[in-house]
Amino acid sequence: MAKISYVDGLYLHYKDSKIHIEDRGYHFGDAIYEVVMFNEGIFFDYDEHIKRLLRSLKSLNITLPISCKSLKIIIKNVIKKNKVVFGSIYIQVSRGVAQRNHSYKNLTLKPIIIISVTEKNNDYLNNFIGVSAITLNDNRWARPDIKTTQLLPNILAKTIADEKGAYEAIFVDQDDYITEGSSSNIWIVNYDNELITRNLDGQILSGITRNAVKNCAVQNNIKILERKFLKDELLTAKEVFLTSATSFVTPIVKIDNSSINNGLIGELSCSLRELYLKAMKTSN
Ligand code: PMP
Repeated sequence: MAKISYVDGLYLHYKDSKIHIEDRGYHFGDAIYEVVMFNEGIFFDYDEHIKRLLRSLKSLNITLPISCKSLKIIIKNVIKKNKVVFGSIYIQVSRGVAQRNHSYKNLTLKPIIIISVTEKNNDYLNNFIGVSAITLNDNRWARPDIKTTQLLPNILAKTIADEKGAYEAIFVDQDDYITEGSSSNIWIVNYDNELITRNLDGQILSGITRNAVKNCAVQNNIKILERKFLKDELLTAKEVFLTSATSFVTPIVKIDNSSINNGLIGELSCSLRELYLKAMKTSN
């Protein structure tokens, strides 16, 4: 974490960046978040991330307490104050501070915005490896399409993956269909070189990177099918990769005990990563 963050109207040193113990985000996960990458003053898909932030806030009846213009100024200030060239911005908006009570009916709270920046090494942009993943039952709530900070099933899943030396945990629904990763969207390539990723049926987050990669595929005449796919299709796919704002396009070469593409990074995964990063160079 860099040194200066923005907390409820103030730019504060990290050690002074504190939230009230009755913040509903802290009590209940009653908060929304976004993570946006940036490089040399260029944000990766900024507008799309902010649109999703507003959409998620709306689903929880929280109103962003400042204009989008002010939000962008604050974000740029945080980056500038920390002198970070390449990294990610974390935005969190909670419903606000109130005496602990599950219902928020009749509460007129001021939502609390926090913004912090994480510096990343530039190697991270260019060097990548094929990673491994595990599969786990999807035990999340029924609204994973809302980007709330209430991420307990996700963090437990990621920890199990970590303990097994894997990079990601891939959730499988009760009918054996893949939903998404604990912090990513999942894609497969079949033997007809078609890209398949789950449709936005409310059971996955509408990934901003997912959408950008979809656009890259369409522009490059790569056939893309948005539909549910079974765990079996995942394990026997020609290629598998994940997408997220911080992992871009990351090839998956092993899932549970199955090798994907003989443990090698797939060609299509590799070119989609390049196309995505190229598109982000001129993003906003
Ligand atoms: N699904 C989940 C559960 C996630 O947490 C993330 C990362 N925020 C994604 C998908 C990918 O979304 P994005 O591409 O917008 O980072």
